[in-house]
Amino acid sequence: MKPAKFNYLRPSSIEEAVQYLSEYGEDAKIISGGQSLIPLLNMRLSTPKYLIDLGRAEGLGYIREDGEFLVIGALTKHCEIEKSELVKEKCPLLSEAIRWVGHAQIRNRGTVGGSIAHGDPSAELPCVITALRGEIVIADANGEEVFCPEEFFLTYMLTSLQPDQLVKEVRFPITKPSSGSAFVEVARRHGDFGLVEVAAVVDLDADSRFLSVNLAIGGVNSVPTPLEDVEKLLIGKEASEEIYEEAGNLTMEIVEPESDLHGTAEYRRELSGTIVIRALKQATERAQGGGGL
Ligand SMILES: Cc1cc2nc3c(=O)[nH]c(=O)nc-3n(C[C@H](O)[C@H](O)[C@H](O)COP(=O)(O)OP(=O)(O)OC[C@H]3O[C@@H](n4cnc5c(N)ncnc54)[C@H](O)[C@@H]3O)c2cc1C
Repeated sequence: MKPAKFNYLRPSSIEEAVQYLSEYGEDAKIISGGQSLIPLLNMRLSTPKYLIDLGRAEGLGYIREDGEFLVIGALTKHCEIEKSELVKEKCPLLSEAIRWVGHAQIRNRGTVGGSIAHGDPSAELPCVITALRGEIVIADANGEEVFCPEEFFLTYMLTSLQPDQLVKEVRFPITKPSSGSAFVEVARRHGDFGLVEVAAVVDLDADSRFLSVNLAIGGVNSVPTPLEDVEKLLIGKEASEEIYEEAGNLTMEIVEPESDLHGTAEYRRELSGTIVIRALKQATERAQGGGGL
């Protein structure tokens, strides 16, 4: 099938893009890398009258350090993150997670802004930004607004973005060099969306007690979910098989997966506990080894 007819607009700046959005918002769709939108257009599940191609808008593709954040512009492609030494050094969790996004061809086109705006609860970047408690910067004709992930992701493929708004940049808190992080995912085939995925960052004291823990899970709830109760359970405890087991059991109590053609709710629940244990172990070993990947 071919997409329904649309008018094609190609802003050369973010200002022009938000101007188009304020004019045509309800009838318009932004297109960035097109990796999620093009299939929807082709199947006519989305039939916008105006397609606003952000691809040539200047000043939206960047990766830079800014205070406590690694700031990534909306048009930055997944492959650029994958290759970035700065990302690897400042946010190893993101560096590891990005390799799980689809296949190389998809990472060559797909963008950070598109992935965050699409709001798929199984997608890797929403899970990472949720674990790190990062920030999502939204722009419209009136200026900018900053959202935390819990305010931004509302439910399956639904975010707080209004029709006249776009994602401008995403801010990932910089990981301490001594922290260990791990991104663990189980998918049916490499390149598929994860059945369950877990993002973990831990900081330990000299006796391997958890000083801080950041944990989030994707693929099991309608939004990527921070595992706050598991984090609280771990703080102050020494890393051990017993505490990992407790963390896994608590995760299985917290998650509310649904059955679909890829797996039953019960399978996903079991998997959630197992993957939390794996991610915690790996992050802890990396922290004990001096941090980083
Ligand atoms: C075979 C296949 C496998 C895939 N596997 C994965 C996977 O494992 N993990 C994963 O995360 N993704 C996967 N994807 C999806 C894809 O990689 C991402 O969703 C994609 O990278 C989104 O970025 P994009 O730039 O292509 O967005 P687009 O397709 O251009 O847009 C997606 C949505 O976001 C909106 N949008 C885009 N940019 C902005 C912006 N700056 N502000 C506001 N709204 C915006 C669009 O209007 C649209 O609704 C897969 C896709 C395919 C085809």
